[in-house]
Amino acid sequence: MSMLRQDVQTHTNYSDGENTITQMVKSAIDIGIESIVISDHAKGWVSGDGTRSEFFPTYEKYVNYLQEVEHVKNVFSDKIKIFSGLEIEIGVQGDFKLDAGIIEYAQKHKDRRKLGVDILLGSIHSESFEEDCTEQEIKVKDKRAVMIENMINLIRNKKIDIFAHPFQALHGQFSDNLSEKETEQIINTFEMEWRSGHSIFFELNGKKYPRYEQWSYNKYENGELETQDINVLQRYRKRGGKFVLGSDAHSIQGLTDTDFSILNKLSLDESEIFMFYERN
Ligand SMILES: [Zn+2]
Ligand SMILES: [Zn+2]
Repeated sequence: MSMLRQDVQTHTNYSDGENTITQMVKSAIDIGIESIVISDHAKGWVSGDGTRSEFFPTYEKYVNYLQEVEHVKNVFSDKIKIFSGLEIEIGVQGDFKLDAGIIEYAQKHKDRRKLGVDILLGSIHSESFEEDCTEQEIKVKDKRAVMIENMINLIRNKKIDIFAHPFQALHGQFSDNLSEKETEQIINTFEMEWRSGHSIFFELNGKKYPRYEQWSYNKYENGELETQDINVLQRYRKRGGKFVLGSDAHSIQGLTDTDFSILNKLSLDESEIFMFYERN
């Protein structure tokens, strides 16, 4: 399998990406991508100088985002299938971390299950996890269990469609992979969700992380980049799990500057990739 037919994770200049929604979509069409999810970050973060930036500080900005995605959907409908989305940070209590503009939107539109978008990506980033642990005074010895609980809470959240880069926070915090027991906990949770009718998928993330990215420092110290846990992924697929692929592009170059060697390692079949436009 060579081509990325559906890209479930892309960022635009609405959050920390470089390009506009239209530029990203046009590029995706040029490359030959059939379907794309625009998935900007739902909450800003604390930068080096200690200030917290918001991507959607106002209701208006969030509505603009939604409208712009709807606009490109129509304009390019004969060339590419576009979905609106958000990448949402899931806190250790299972809470959604959202900027003020999205919170206001949620209050005004209680009927919109998914904050007005088609697809919600749930993620845990090491830095955000660290913040939660500090705030909630979680002891170092308890961190591992809290992380697993955090992952489980994400999978159980019925609004979430995709578990984005599932091992990122784990490897940012710990140098070893999931244990046998932890793997079973995670996969059992998936199974329970599927049985209850909740479609949720592991994302295989193709972003090439630069060496200095903090979340993977443990793995780099060992001289290897291991962002995917093959054992867990194999177990997941054996139990019937399907995958979605995301470039995690933050620019038009990011759409193709990817590493999907994991697909070969898993010898993944096309039928194991879930395509959102085939839903229903
Ligand atoms: Zn980003
Ligand atoms: Zn992310």
